[in-house]
Amino acid sequence: SIFTIVHQETCIACGACGAAAPEVFDYDDEGISYVIIDDNKGTKCVPNQYVDDVLDAYEGCPTDSIKISKKTFDGNPLKYG
Ligand code: SF4
Repeated sequence: SIFTIVHQETCIACGACGAAAPEVFDYDDEGISYVIIDDNKGTKCVPNQYVDDVLDAYEGCPTDSIKISKKTFDGNPLKYG
């Protein structure tokens, strides 16, 4: 299982992650991405059926703003560097 979170300070609102994983990533009024399942806290496991989509989004983010980990982020996208 994996956790994911968006580092919103570096997100450029390109729209790629929501296209890759629409059940996991959505955008705020300015187009900045967030994780739907835990309000971008990185505290809930990504449901198994969406893991491949999240990995695609992770690999496709042009600014490396999508973080993934096997452990909770506790709301901090930079928790693991
Ligand atoms: Fe932001 Fe990256 Fe998603 Fe583009 S792919 S909207 S830069 S988090």
